[in-house]
Amino acid sequence: MLSFVYNGLPARVIFGSGTIADLPSEVDRLGLSRVLVLSAPAQEADARGICDRLGKLSAGLYPHATMHTPVSRTDDALAVVRDRNIDGFVAIGGGSTTGLSKALAYRTDLPQIIIPTTYAGSEMTPILGETHEGQKHTKSSTRILPEVVIYDVDLTMTLPASVSGTSGMNAMAHAVEAMYAKDRNPVISLIATDAVKTLALALPRVIDNPLDKDARADALYGAWLSGICLGSVGMALHHKLCHVLGGLFDLPHADTHAVILPHVLAYNAPAVPDAIERLKDALRTTDPAAALFDLADRLGAKTSLAEIAGSMSLDDLEQAAQVASQNQYWNPRTIEIESIRSLLQNAWTGNLRT
Ligand code: NAD
Repeated sequence: MLSFVYNGLPARVIFGSGTIADLPSEVDRLGLSRVLVLSAPAQEADARGICDRLGKLSAGLYPHATMHTPVSRTDDALAVVRDRNIDGFVAIGGGSTTGLSKALAYRTDLPQIIIPTTYAGSEMTPILGETHEGQKHTKSSTRILPEVVIYDVDLTMTLPASVSGTSGMNAMAHAVEAMYAKDRNPVISLIATDAVKTLALALPRVIDNPLDKDARADALYGAWLSGICLGSVGMALHHKLCHVLGGLFDLPHADTHAVILPHVLAYNAPAVPDAIERLKDALRTTDPAAALFDLADRLGAKTSLAEIAGSMSLDDLEQAAQVASQNQYWNPRTIEIESIRSLLQNAWTGNLRT
């Protein structure tokens, strides 16, 4: 018999084209008058535009967000927050900028408005991953969950096709793992199914024509749905492996998701027949793991770890398998070091065994 727990997350979401125009009224609605605008260095010009739009509601800019949310950078930003008597944050950018905003909100309990410009989905979760002395630590708290998210498709039009593809596969991974989450429920399963369907149709259109606004809107919508999944139910082996590889070897976040996802799905498939049926339907395929591998390839993502390894070498797979098998966490199929080692070996060469 059906039995579940459903936790809805309390975020206000504004979605569309030109929605950035709502920002001043959203700042006002939260009762803020001295917000700090956050961005990565590459998006400083967009962030300046937001400061201009906010006028006297803005107390300036901090354009130094960086990947994996290092605590040292957060401490640096925190000094600015105190110095300028900041009462809230506006973050424009991808998961890295959202990460900085969450880290600041966690420490100050100040409200956040996030304007996502990638498909990472972090804006919809109460989870913060931050790095300190080479280790990535994860925290979960209601203080971390942003109060308002403004999705403006216009601000995603400049996302390069190569980043759009991998970032889209990052979103896809949230929805796929939600389908077999231990704490899944009917609402999240519906959302996950629609997310997979929407992303699979939209992302190839974005790659073919990055200026196709309808395709961009669909991809952003799919990313929002995936973000809801990520924030609502527990993730499993795929997210653990990407976390381990990112933490140990500093592999690029979205590219790692794109490489690993088909391999984890092929590994988990025998243990999750219901999810596989949903995925067959959503991806219109008889073999979802192979379909995801082909999709990543179609989107121009690298399909082997070897291609994105940087300073990581084949020998390092042993350490990755060991760390990923420690501190047992829930996964629908048992995790053994040998099977994880072999999964990683296949991912290293880009050889999918379904
Ligand atoms: P990112 O934020 O680092 O962005 C990638 C690059 O794209 C950056 O150089 C950025 O400036 C650029 N960029 C972003 N939007 C652009 C646009 N519209 N036009 C042009 N350039 C643009 O990468 P990401 O993949 O979005 O985020 C990765 C980070 O997010 C990782 O640190 C990851 O751990 C974190 N994350 C956290 C969660 C969570 O729930 N806590 C979820 C997903 C990702």
